[in-house]
Amino acid sequence: MAKRKRKKCNLPNIPAASSQAAESRDIEQNEVPQGPRRIRLYGDEILRKKAFPIQEITEVERKLAEDMLVAMYAAPNGIGLAAPQVGVLKRLIVIDVNRNDPASRPLMLINPEIESLEGESIAEEGCLSIPDVTADIKRAEKAVVTALNMDGEEIRVEGEGFLSRALQHEIDHLNGVLFIDHVSGLKRQLLRGKLRKLVKEQS
Ligand SMILES: [Zn+2]
Repeated sequence: MAKRKRKKCNLPNIPAASSQAAESRDIEQNEVPQGPRRIRLYGDEILRKKAFPIQEITEVERKLAEDMLVAMYAAPNGIGLAAPQVGVLKRLIVIDVNRNDPASRPLMLINPEIESLEGESIAEEGCLSIPDVTADIKRAEKAVVTALNMDGEEIRVEGEGFLSRALQHEIDHLNGVLFIDHVSGLKRQLLRGKLRKLVKEQS
């Protein structure tokens, strides 16, 4: 997820993965690719697929989480990222809504599930996979999520405000859902031109 931004800001120039194999649209399920992970952009079909639960946390998952943090922090407004956004269909998300606070530690959540949602809030949202597009999105003000941490321990995260929003946004990604799917008909139509342009740039 990308935090709201006033000025136009493009995605950082993350170099593409080095090997041709990693460049393909196949999912690197059990490889440990070298080099930075490329953030997949709107129009890439992997963003519409449902990610698979992680059965075992190995060095592959740990490397994936690390790489996702690198990709998220490399984007100036990045406060959350889901594995499908780097081309891996696994249920893993990373979030750091207070990334500018040196004391902040990122959340790395495996197989996150929403336990409960409460209240309502509307705020502007963006997505690292949909650059330069933002929209006001209605989300639950509070979200309680259960997940495993990187050590395989069950944890429970209670999020309010932006954390709640980021949790919902990233878990949506694991189900092939994008924030623009929450935009109502008319506003969606207004976004269509921008989205079409993004798809064009992808092909
Ligand atoms: Zn996103």
